[in-house]
Amino acid sequence: MIHLETHVLVVGAGGAGMYAAIAAARNGADVILADKSMIGRGGATIMAQMTTAAALGEEEPDSWEKHLDDTLDAGRGLCNEELSAILCEEAIDRIREMDDWKVGWARKDGKITGVMAPGHSVPRCVYVDFLNTGPAVAKCLRTQVARADSALRISGVAINDVVVDDGVAIGAVGWNLEDETPVTIAANAVVLAAGGLTRLYARNSASINMNGDAYAMALRAGAELMDMEFPQFFPIGHLAPRLVGMDPIMWDPFRYKLGGRLFNADGEEFLHRYGGEDADKYTTTRDIISYGITKENEAGRATDNGGVYLSFRHLSEKVLRDAFGPVIDKLANNGIDLMERDVEVSPIAHYHMGGIRVNGSMETCVPGLYAAGEAVGGANGANRLSGNAIPEAFVFGERAGRFAAEYARGRNRSWVADAAVGHVDQLNAMIGRQTDANGEKAALGGMWAELQRLMWEKVGVLRTGDKLTSALTRIRDMRTELESVAPADDNEFNLTLQDWYDLRSALLTAESVTLAAINRTESRGAHQREDFEQTDPGQTYNQRLRLDDDGSIVSDYLSVAGGAQ
Ligand SMILES: Cc1cc2nc3c(=O)[nH]c(=O)nc-3n(C[C@H](O)[C@H](O)[C@H](O)COP(=O)(O)OP(=O)(O)OC[C@H]3O[C@@H](n4cnc5c(N)ncnc54)[C@H](O)[C@@H]3O)c2cc1C
Repeated sequence: MIHLETHVLVVGAGGAGMYAAIAAARNGADVILADKSMIGRGGATIMAQMTTAAALGEEEPDSWEKHLDDTLDAGRGLCNEELSAILCEEAIDRIREMDDWKVGWARKDGKITGVMAPGHSVPRCVYVDFLNTGPAVAKCLRTQVARADSALRISGVAINDVVVDDGVAIGAVGWNLEDETPVTIAANAVVLAAGGLTRLYARNSASINMNGDAYAMALRAGAELMDMEFPQFFPIGHLAPRLVGMDPIMWDPFRYKLGGRLFNADGEEFLHRYGGEDADKYTTTRDIISYGITKENEAGRATDNGGVYLSFRHLSEKVLRDAFGPVIDKLANNGIDLMERDVEVSPIAHYHMGGIRVNGSMETCVPGLYAAGEAVGGANGANRLSGNAIPEAFVFGERAGRFAAEYARGRNRSWVADAAVGHVDQLNAMIGRQTDANGEKAALGGMWAELQRLMWEKVGVLRTGDKLTSALTRIRDMRTELESVAPADDNEFNLTLQDWYDLRSALLTAESVTLAAINRTESRGAHQREDFEQTDPGQTYNQRLRLDDDGSIVSDYLSVAGGAQ
């Protein structure tokens, strides 16, 4: 057993967690930054592609208020305006601060350059390098965290639960992935920055760690979630052939610049059937493309791997190279010659608009518990603008770290070991559990695959009440089944034990998404119901979820903060 103490514990070291650690340290706190992957190398941030929205206005006049207007429009009436305004206003400070840290934002004639992205009224998406913005910002933040003397970085520790005593967060319990040692961390304040949930879906742009841990930990600690029905699907995620070392959503910039044509397996263009355009520079919106591809699939006109073809073969090599020179070579290294062949694409789960409910200080309803980044709901409403997620991680991370440090300063609570006992006992019991009810050791890959398939087919792009209800029944059964599973024992890097804990969170998070989707009987933003095709102005509200004493999820509705009811 390892026991550590700190002022501020940050769970998750992506963009949000690293920024939180930097901010907490410079506000005088001792910090522990813990990640189940390596610091700054797990999760979504390092995978991100290019667009980082901030109204710098260096090349063209812009203002954070204009950015806010665009964000609210995209959010289809459900944005928490306070959070959206913080995101748009402070994105400018964070981008400039990272510029001072020499992240390397791309410049033209000395000015930080911004590109246009769908839904933005001004070209305001800054980047470091085409396809490399995520790695560059992750490296920049890793360097800053390493320079913060009061921040201790711990890789390879999975946090399972926030420890709550008398209704107040006092630390967390986890385990060392290398050798299964239980770890308790006493903290005056805890920041949940453990990212999103897209690994719940069979088709996703996720890394292995994006299984909804933050949402499940928050629920179990007594915090509230909001708008969980809104995972976002990216319409033309890469499906085939195999692509190594490149972003699965890389076809979006190709689309802005060059169009590209979509064909079904019969070689027909199909977007016009669903209200889209068939022009080779298509302007069809993301929701129509996702809808069209899903419908072509259902009609049996899918490609071998279950998508459609994206083709650039009508363009000359010169046009392709002028637009994307080095990328064309990277594709060639993957055996993909765009002049000769099409690629297969499909909608994929990409981001989550919903999440932990916080106020402007990133504080949950549990004193001492903060959240940041994709784990937080509200700023993007029912639909996120391209480029808003990376600044959300920076802005909310900085705030969470700053306010958590302030809170921790005024507080001197001692660790209450009794409050952690249940979590530690459960961990020890799981490690020691010998066999399941059938006398067998379980491998949990099958359960993971079933959950991902279920979420994709029944809680995915196009939903109906029947599909959602049958998914909910199965997810609840799976939660019960998981309780009796004995993970195979293996003292070093016990991946089955990790799967068990990942699934525990994934199933609770999946239940939250499904239940919230059942309750919202309309189509809005990323939530599309085939049985309720229209947006219902009467449902312009946020949905709040929390865990009841008996372990069931309960929901109610809240008027949109700052928005029209
Ligand atoms: C392929 C891809 C491309 C993208 N491109 C863009 C883009 O161009 N523009 C844009 O704005 N957004 C983009 N996004 C979205 C954006 O990258 C994310 O929303 C953002 O980076 C989230 O940052 P975060 O710090 O909240 O979470 P993450 O970066 O996901 O970090 C979460 C961290 O928590 C850790 N963790 C998880 N569970 C635990 C646990 N139980 N215990 C300890 N640690 C844990 C993980 O290992 C991870 O390191 C993209 C996302 C992906 C996946």
